[in-house]
Amino acid sequence: MTNKELANLIFPNITKTIEDYEKMYPERNIDVGAKVVRFAPSPTGFMHIGNFMSAVINYCLAKSSKGVFFLRNEDTDQARTVEGAVDFIYHILDFYNIMPDEYEYKGKIVGNYGPYIQSERIEIYHAFVKHLIEIGRAYPCFLTKEELEEIREYQTKSKKRIGIYGKYAKSRNLTLDEAAERIKKGEKFVIRFKSEGDFNKKFVFEDLTQGKIEFPENDLDIPIMKSGDLLPTYHFAHLVDDHLMHTTHVVRGNEWLSSVPLHYELFKTFGFKMPKYIHTSLILKKDGDVIRKISKRKDPEALMFYYEEKGYPTIAVIDAVLTIANSNYEEWRTNNPDKPFYEFPFSPKKMSVSGALFDLDKLDNISKNYISKMSAPDLYQEYLNWALKNDKHIYEIISKEKSNTIKFLNIEREVKKPRKDYENYSSIFNKSWYMYDEEFNKKLDYHFGKINDKKEILNIMNNYLDSIYDFNDSQDEWFNKIKEYAKKLNYADMKEYKENPDSYKGNIADFTTVIRVVLTTLDMTPNLYDIMQILGSDRMLKRLEIFKNSY
Ligand code: GLU
Repeated sequence: MTNKELANLIFPNITKTIEDYEKMYPERNIDVGAKVVRFAPSPTGFMHIGNFMSAVINYCLAKSSKGVFFLRNEDTDQARTVEGAVDFIYHILDFYNIMPDEYEYKGKIVGNYGPYIQSERIEIYHAFVKHLIEIGRAYPCFLTKEELEEIREYQTKSKKRIGIYGKYAKSRNLTLDEAAERIKKGEKFVIRFKSEGDFNKKFVFEDLTQGKIEFPENDLDIPIMKSGDLLPTYHFAHLVDDHLMHTTHVVRGNEWLSSVPLHYELFKTFGFKMPKYIHTSLILKKDGDVIRKISKRKDPEALMFYYEEKGYPTIAVIDAVLTIANSNYEEWRTNNPDKPFYEFPFSPKKMSVSGALFDLDKLDNISKNYISKMSAPDLYQEYLNWALKNDKHIYEIISKEKSNTIKFLNIEREVKKPRKDYENYSSIFNKSWYMYDEEFNKKLDYHFGKINDKKEILNIMNNYLDSIYDFNDSQDEWFNKIKEYAKKLNYADMKEYKENPDSYKGNIADFTTVIRVVLTTLDMTPNLYDIMQILGSDRMLKRLEIFKNSY
């Protein structure tokens, strides 16, 4: 039996060769320097912030170099596939407006280098595995689960390196005839790569983020094709796909760094050019005094659901992620406030090697800034869109009260230093509910300060609302009237009050607090003049009645 015959025995129906595939997927017609990058998630869980960071970096690299960004669905671990994970990936990419140029979704293939779903590429992988068997660089391995377990136990106990190499690679020594016979008998097998590396020899690899790293050569005979579903392992699919799809830069998590020696040998064996690698740092979180890896289980912000539910502007989330991805992003953003993020010249060298600390306070600040710069009608529209998907109650209220909501959102907005009240859309209602009668009437929990005597409050309010407040007054006129009236009722301005606190009932701030609390129940709100203009006399008089009956 020859290698070729063994290969035919295992893959009788695979007729296409590597050369055929090379022809089917020729070099891409792109500019020199254009980067071909991919986002290659496994649908074994819902998209998390680390995946998102990879996607955003890839998008930047492709757009800023006029390259190609494609999505490859790495679904080779079928047992661990999570329902809805793929839909969620596409939803997020669409939501953040970072859709790939090439992808395959719901039966639609966009791009000439597909299929873009690994389980649909099985014949391609098989052609490459077959080739390796033909040249004697792959072999069927019949080690059973139990045998593998035994080897692992032995290696662990005797502090040996874990894995199938050297004397542990038992099936490697079978003759071709022996192997063929066992296959014919129907024994289960996987296909393993036949490594020629020497663990005692070193080679230098250059990662674009981590710099030069010295690795020992690979000597592991790793499985490249699984038994059962006959799908490839990640390592082999990486080789085949990134070769045929002409990936120039692989952006992937740090956890793959230790697999580099293996990938290096695989590419070398086929004589393929290796892509460049950007191994991204882990995303860390400060938890009390410790800094630890962000955790899907413990930290809601680890999953991409969080940001949408909270209603962060998409650009704020992208900025926050790029801020931790590249140390100079923040400065670039300050100097280029209106540029799209993907014009940022992302530099792998400026990625932290030790880990990227993701901080929700930072995101809040970035987001507050963006929200403060939106026009009130634009913000209203975003808020409404958010509410439609996330909070029907708020949606109903703000739809009914569109004009007042916009007016409220506009308070202290069209000024040089606008208010930075809102870190996301979900926080708006908590800071504006009192503007809506329905909500106001539910709470009626008054927060008066120094002046909290009902009689005195009514003394101030009755006259003020009835005969002093005038909707047509400017803010200055309004305030002058308040001051004058306050004086009459023995409330001093701040200076006088400080000099002689005992001769007055209170100061002007105590006085306006009374008005504010009767009208909103709160002692702190944005500009009271604006709030009163929005509420209008009828509503304010009604609120005074409510106060009379409920305080
Ligand atoms: N499917 C791999 C993962 O989700 C992708 C790694 C890569 O980008 O190559 O970890």
